[in-house]
Amino acid sequence: MAAMIRLFRSSSAAFSTRRSLSSAAATEFKPRVDPKGRNVQWVFLGCPGVGKGTYASRLSVLLGVPHIATGDLVREELNSSGPMSKQLEEIVNQGKLVSDEIIINLLSKRLESGESKGESGFILDGFPRTVRQAEILNDVTDIDLVVNLKLPEQVLIDKCLGRRICSECGKNFNVATIDVKGENGNPDIYMDPLLPPSHCASKLVTRPDDTETVVKQRLAVYTEKSQPVEDFYRCQGKLVEFVIPGGIPESLPKLLEALNLNENEEKQSAAV
Ligand code: ADP
Repeated sequence: MAAMIRLFRSSSAAFSTRRSLSSAAATEFKPRVDPKGRNVQWVFLGCPGVGKGTYASRLSVLLGVPHIATGDLVREELNSSGPMSKQLEEIVNQGKLVSDEIIINLLSKRLESGESKGESGFILDGFPRTVRQAEILNDVTDIDLVVNLKLPEQVLIDKCLGRRICSECGKNFNVATIDVKGENGNPDIYMDPLLPPSHCASKLVTRPDDTETVVKQRLAVYTEKSQPVEDFYRCQGKLVEFVIPGGIPESLPKLLEALNLNENEEKQSAAV
């Protein structure tokens, strides 16, 4: 992991002098981390509101690796009194992407602090989000598996609008009941709301970027900038596509089965 962080840092430093990493330069960033004898290095892809955080956090418990969401890192920085906070707030609240340089800096810092606490492996959520980010990640380490979660667009919008966060503990909830009739041979989708316990109920807030206008903008940005990342990993044979069939109790066991992780029932119930 230390090697990966070092390489990440050097690739982010290179942004100031080089906008694109030539393949010749990229080879300087090798050797790759040996995949043997280390924890899993997975990526979760999917549109805003699909549930990347929900499923990645549960799998991270099961696999014993940290769940690292770049959106959380951005929000932490934005809520701090740091020099970038105002700039980040504007970008995020318009549904745009933060620069690759800033994201890689935030991610390097997070990996570094995790490593100093003994973390190894990861599930990345929200990174990479551009082909450029995927190329940089590819240059610094091997990703084992990429899970691509899918839901119809109307469900994504309803889920973002129903999202609520406890301002004290940071947990995510959802007040929307999703009940969408399947079209063109697709199955119906039903999801119960994910309601907070009573101690969180009075502390719920919404994300400023979860308005209908900004969600639609984020979905458009996903189609333009992040969908090509799916192709990047599809070509490498690492992409597992998973259409979410319903709420967490129905979907999680099916996801675990799709990922061949359903053998340990005790661990599974801990994750649920
Ligand atoms: P979403 O629900 O849209 O997937 P996230 O919580 O992952 O939201 O991210 C929130 C915001 O943080 C994004 O809209 C974007 O502005 C910024 N962000 C997060 N990850 C990245 C990334 N890898 N590259 C660029 N911007 C990012």
